[in-house]
Amino acid sequence: MNEFNLELTEDQEQLRDWIHQFAVDVIRPAAEDWDEREEFPWPVVQEAAQIGLYGWDFLAQGMLGDKTGLTMPVAIEELFWGDAGIGMAIMGSGLAAAGIAASGTQEQVMEWVPQCYGTADDVRLGAFCASEANAGSDVGGYRARAVHDEVKDEWVLNGAKAWITNGGIADVHVVVAVVDPELGSKGHASFVVPPGTPGLAQGQKYKKHGIRASHTAEVILTDVRVPGGCLLGGKEKLDERLDRVRRGEKGNAQAAMQTFEATRPAVGAQAIGVARAAFEYSLEYAKERQAFGRPIIANQGIAFMLADMATEIEASRMMVWRAAWLGKRGGFVNAEGSMAKLKAARTATWVTERAIQILGGAGYTREVPVERWHRDAKIHDIFEGTEQIQQLVIARAISGMRIE
Ligand SMILES: Cc1cc2nc3c(=O)[nH]c(=O)nc-3n(C[C@H](O)[C@H](O)[C@H](O)COP(=O)(O)OP(=O)(O)OC[C@H]3O[C@@H](n4cnc5c(N)ncnc54)[C@H](O)[C@@H]3O)c2cc1C
Repeated sequence: MNEFNLELTEDQEQLRDWIHQFAVDVIRPAAEDWDEREEFPWPVVQEAAQIGLYGWDFLAQGMLGDKTGLTMPVAIEELFWGDAGIGMAIMGSGLAAAGIAASGTQEQVMEWVPQCYGTADDVRLGAFCASEANAGSDVGGYRARAVHDEVKDEWVLNGAKAWITNGGIADVHVVVAVVDPELGSKGHASFVVPPGTPGLAQGQKYKKHGIRASHTAEVILTDVRVPGGCLLGGKEKLDERLDRVRRGEKGNAQAAMQTFEATRPAVGAQAIGVARAAFEYSLEYAKERQAFGRPIIANQGIAFMLADMATEIEASRMMVWRAAWLGKRGGFVNAEGSMAKLKAARTATWVTERAIQILGGAGYTREVPVERWHRDAKIHDIFEGTEQIQQLVIARAISGMRIE
């Protein structure tokens, strides 16, 4: 297995520069407009698909064709440096793809993941529907139900999912539902709801604080019938797993934990992209802005703030890269994926707030992008496991104890 190496390969450098240019030429000029409109940025995602930046191939090459683990963090940081709302619009289908890859058979992955993306000329979206209004962190509280109709070998889904990225506008929805209510969080299964299935509808579309170009909505499931083959992993495997849980045997919690740990560095990379955008902008501003007859960066109060911002970003990136590398090796020891996500998200929230401080009054207005970056940064403390849930995972990993 590869040693941890901070030197990017030539391919990774080229990829980074290519995405950076797309961010400069296409994403940044469009960012403010889509944030104000609070709509899914279809033309930008279509343009990303045309050049091969949105699509199943891109994901496959970035994830499967990379032994170092660094390709996706490097790519994602550039995308989110461009804009986090548009970045999320481009990355959102990846949540569905990851959900399918985590539980599906090889055949299911090959059938459904490409459908989460469509083609360059016919862009499709995927959505991963787990959270519910009364159960986000507390996954044992899900109420959406899946019942097997044995006669027809169909599953019938009912319930409501909340805060779903691409919810209702996606073509493929991956839905986590309760199959055995007695078993709490161990009684769940994941289902693909194919495009156009009757009974699946978008509920309210949320108005958000940040990443407003990303579509977030409720997904309402009313007697949604899907074929037996849409149960990810298949019925036999589900029955075996449920039997093991009923017998009180330990399930594959460790495997699930490794999967979550492996996707968290990607969220950390998103946060670093936003933080870096705000840092670079405020550094330039501090060099130019004059107060008391000198550039404001000539004051240690400002220069040291920028020094700390740069240091936090570097530290966060190192944690994200190392966690991504460990993820490739399947070798997390102390929940390093959670640590990286926790640190990078906090860095983004803090750095973007400091950036507003450095810009003063201008930073608080919508004349410049730092207030948007500050709004965008905050989501990273919340989704894909809140700050406190990351702390919980880390505390359990370092102590080996059941911390509540
Ligand atoms: C923009 C956006 C996009 C999203 N996209 C998706 C998506 O695509 N798919 C999806 O399934 N979900 C999605 N979510 C949902 C997201 O994952 C949840 O909001 C998140 O997991 C938190 O759940 P909650 O909102 O119910 O908060 P809660 O779980 O109610 O938490 C509220 C507060 O209590 C704290 N808390 C909860 N439990 C504990 C504990 N045991 N110990 C200490 N503190 C605790 C939390 O950290 C938080 O501070 C999205 C959310 C947003 C805002």
